[in-house]
Amino acid sequence: EIKLAKRVGTLTPSATLAITAKAKEMKAEGFDVIGLGAGEPDFNTPENILKAAAQSMQEGYTKYTPAGGLPALKKVIAEKLKRDQNLEYKANEIIVTNGAKHSLYTLFQVFLDEGDEVIIPIPYWVSYPEQVKLAGGKPVYIETREEHAFKITAEQLEQAISEKTKALILNSPSNPTGMVYTHEELEALGQVCLKHDILIISDEIYEKLLYGGNQHVSIAGMSQELKQQTIIINGVSKSHSMTGWRIGYAAGDSRIIRAMTDLASHSTSNPTTTSQYAAIAAYSGSQDSVETMRKAFEERLDIIYRKLTAIPGISCLKPQGAFYLFPNVKEAALSTGSSDVDQFVQRLLEEALVAVVPGSGFGSPDNIRLSYATSLDLLEAAIDRIAGFIDKNK
Ligand code: PLP
Repeated sequence: EIKLAKRVGTLTPSATLAITAKAKEMKAEGFDVIGLGAGEPDFNTPENILKAAAQSMQEGYTKYTPAGGLPALKKVIAEKLKRDQNLEYKANEIIVTNGAKHSLYTLFQVFLDEGDEVIIPIPYWVSYPEQVKLAGGKPVYIETREEHAFKITAEQLEQAISEKTKALILNSPSNPTGMVYTHEELEALGQVCLKHDILIISDEIYEKLLYGGNQHVSIAGMSQELKQQTIIINGVSKSHSMTGWRIGYAAGDSRIIRAMTDLASHSTSNPTTTSQYAAIAAYSGSQDSVETMRKAFEERLDIIYRKLTAIPGISCLKPQGAFYLFPNVKEAALSTGSSDVDQFVQRLLEEALVAVVPGSGFGSPDNIRLSYATSLDLLEAAIDRIAGFIDKNK
């Protein structure tokens, strides 16, 4: 009899990937499903990046690289951090990994001991709790309220801290809510973390996707002390439409980065070489395509936000970043006779042929997540279908 390790006993597949898989299955069976589950930009990777990757292969750069990434890539990441946030990092304070997801995974593995606590605001990105648990850590959740734009306060953070707290995860702009912490809010949270010597894990993967004139602020940029207290997590997936290339990075304390690099040397050996060359082009080349994509997302957001919030029983804060809407649909769900939002989501897929992600996967069971990383035509059609489904079943 096969017996799996205890540590995977509570492991659940990503809610996002599960709904996407079901939608794909239905599509393959011939159903005209519109998928709003995806967590990736729908644009092609910019041409200059594709060319640089192809060229590197032709030139023979297809072998192992240093475990923590090519020096040339670390250099352009350091330049990017300086350019965007006026932050200075040396090569030994940066590790390149197989996506930002693997930066986080590796970080938890080297940073957490059995029972160490990591504070995770709700709603959270689905992988944080699973990764913390896999490293033997314990997720400690902070509930947020829609009235507070789904953001935690310094008081809430104080209350959640115990002797065992080792880290706080901040994700701004947020997946799934699209909310952004202000300078003042980050400052207040940062002071609490400094006081209790808690590592701040700042997941800034949606940094380039901000709307309504919002600017990105990294908590690491606020003071030298906060920089030392913070590990920045970022990558090219969302900013440069490079999800499949799998390149992310972590920047912070050299001892942590060293341990992560040692672990990478025994697990991945290195991030894919071709992808690293692509990422060098992404960070060193023109950033025009990043802005073009951002603008396209903002246009879609403005149109579909209006359309979505016109549906009775659905309320939604207007996202300030990322490419998701996270409406509260409880009232609408109940009005259709569904027992809860999870069932509503199931019925939306089967009866209205629209795939969205249930908020329960993010710790918020009254909400759903819709990705607007798809064409405006499809988005409008999907929202019409949702509205029609609710109207028909009330
Ligand atoms: N962090 C957040 C909040 C995300 O939404 C994602 C991707 O969905 C990631 C990290 C990981 O990105 P990647 O591993 O593609 O770099």
